[in-house]
Amino acid sequence: MRKPIIAGNWKMYKTFDEAVEFVEAVQDKIPANDKVDAVICAPALYLPILVQIQADSELAIGAQNMHFENEGAFTGEVSPSQLASVGVDYVVLGHSERREMFNETDEAVNKKVRAALNHDIVPIICCGETLEEREAGQTTAKVSGQIRAALEGFTGEEVTHMVIAYEPIWAIGTGKTATADDANETCGAIRAVVNELYGSEVAEAVRIQYGGSVKPENIVELLSKEHIDGALVGGASLQPESYLKLLEAG
Ligand code: PGA
Repeated sequence: MRKPIIAGNWKMYKTFDEAVEFVEAVQDKIPANDKVDAVICAPALYLPILVQIQADSELAIGAQNMHFENEGAFTGEVSPSQLASVGVDYVVLGHSERREMFNETDEAVNKKVRAALNHDIVPIICCGETLEEREAGQTTAKVSGQIRAALEGFTGEEVTHMVIAYEPIWAIGTGKTATADDANETCGAIRAVVNELYGSEVAEAVRIQYGGSVKPENIVELLSKEHIDGALVGGASLQPESYLKLLEAG
């Protein structure tokens, strides 16, 4: 049985005080760690303090991006060793907003996944198709290509430490969720790619989240599906009450 993983992706929302208030409000109410992995991926600026505040709770803190180099002349970037040095446990990589607006390539995502594992940070590797690609019947080809590229050069054992997030771009922040069956079908296609590359043991172990307008009202059905092992949630992760309801479904 794969343990569900529910990750909030705050994107570029919340002031410092709001971020601290949120973590203080939820930290004692997180379900036991053997039931669900609860993660909040916060703006980089707040990571050290949030890691400190939640040190005794079951909540894990993640970043939303990072560079693949450990250090260097990369003005404005945050490195994997810097994230590790403040105790970050997860990092979202290859989110469609970064691919589309910040020109992040499959190759860069692959390097970032390597850098994350080198620092014992769990990568949440995002993939997903546009509406045009879906309508053209290219969903499986698109996400399979992204996942093959992200996993290139990794062993099966390494893949079991990763999380994959299937996020159809047309469902992100739009209120349009893929139907649970459609989401399950594509998550199943991703698992089939992992199976082809690494065999059934790895494919059965790797966790695949769905993301895109997940909320307390639809998460239960999504998580009931065979291949959906959790959710990556933007808007509905911003309020403590809503986030805790998502965790209850895990
Ligand atoms: P959303 O965002 O839940 O607001 O649709 C999901 C994501 O971008 O990870």
